[in-house]
Amino acid sequence: MAALDLIEYHPVFQVLICKACKSCFQTSISRHIRLKHNKARYTYRMLRDYEASFCRYPVITSRDQIREIQPPRSGPPIKPLQLRLDGILCLLCDPLHQPYICRTIRSMRDHMHAAHQHPKQDRPGRARGWKGRQGLTLERWLQNGAVSAPVACQSFFSGGSLVRYFPVSAPRSDQQARPGSTADTEAAGFDLRFQVEAALKEIETEEAEGGAAARGMSMLAPAPTSEQARWLQLTEWTRFLDDHPLDQVARLIDLPVGTTQRIVSGWTSGSQPADPVSDPPLAYILESLDRLLCFVYRRAWKKMGPDLHFCLWGAQSTALTETVFAAEELAAAVRHKEGQERLKGLQKSLDDKCLVFCISLLDHPLYGDIYDSLVVGFTAVLAIRETHEGKPLKRPRLSEAVSYTPHLSAIVKISQLLVAERALLAVERDEADYPAQAYS
Ligand SMILES: [Zn+2]
Ligand SMILES: [Zn+2]
Repeated sequence: MAALDLIEYHPVFQVLICKACKSCFQTSISRHIRLKHNKARYTYRMLRDYEASFCRYPVITSRDQIREIQPPRSGPPIKPLQLRLDGILCLLCDPLHQPYICRTIRSMRDHMHAAHQHPKQDRPGRARGWKGRQGLTLERWLQNGAVSAPVACQSFFSGGSLVRYFPVSAPRSDQQARPGSTADTEAAGFDLRFQVEAALKEIETEEAEGGAAARGMSMLAPAPTSEQARWLQLTEWTRFLDDHPLDQVARLIDLPVGTTQRIVSGWTSGSQPADPVSDPPLAYILESLDRLLCFVYRRAWKKMGPDLHFCLWGAQSTALTETVFAAEELAAAVRHKEGQERLKGLQKSLDDKCLVFCISLLDHPLYGDIYDSLVVGFTAVLAIRETHEGKPLKRPRLSEAVSYTPHLSAIVKISQLLVAERALLAVERDEADYPAQAYS
């Protein structure tokens, strides 16, 4: 994957950094590359495989958590994050806490006012450079020991409200830099060039982003400002379903032809009879669960296409294998017309294994792409609508937010049902004394 070498994993801070943006990013790897760097037209499969190659790393994905990471103060610059050499560091803040660093005198003045009750006597006038009024302000701060400048600093994010600078040790050639010295001027010039380059790149990537978004939407083509466009942006269905034919994708969640019996039969049969007439919601929920199992079996076990992305963890693979083997054993016993007791035993064993497998699917740790999870992938496939008011549509389309709600509540109910059943199983297996203890 030499052509795709854009992302670097930082093992100490457990973050993913884009080498081209010199920054962390807010989306999944594949989405980031597709939106920002897809000039080389990486295929969906390439991006998916590249993303999967990071699956083994523990990665912090919460942007707020990443923003708050405080690297050691005298540590070297973090590669490949953008290094700034024009930071202004507040020395009045408690050194035990995160030090405040910014890159403009105006921001430092706001900070001095808000955090240290400094009067705002110097109103920002016309920019006069370091020799103007603002330069005098900085000089006074420096003399009073209120700030240190310029300092080398970095931020995990490069734009918007997520930017938060932290100090790092300056690179060797700039270690002698002091305010007013030639090294300082050089450093400022050096940084200015970087800023201009960064600004140009930002414009370029913004244009690319607009183009990519437009291409992604072309599959379904809702107006870019419509509710549906925002909904699709939120769910990322179009990214996940990519250019796969929707009618073929929808076949992945079909129930097996000619089956009248529920796949999930053992659970809930004792306490709540699944009568489709008197209790349609439960029937609907169980049907959704059946469809989920069909989807997982086809994609993860049979490797049937369309080639939708997913990532199966070790425990999930083991549980899936055990479930499929238990099912095959039961099928063989039925074929050989074995005794009722034996069949009952095998059925119970299959139910339990299937339950443990479903719980392992729900327990999916989401570090990277949300669509690593087969359950999340299933929710996207569920969104494909092939009929409207009972009539088949000319072309399948994706659900709107309003009509999708029943699917979501079914999935929430499935999870509740499975968790409760798993707690009962824990008691049965002597893993817990009573159901509530199973999750304590
Ligand atoms: Zn990037
Ligand atoms: Zn301060």
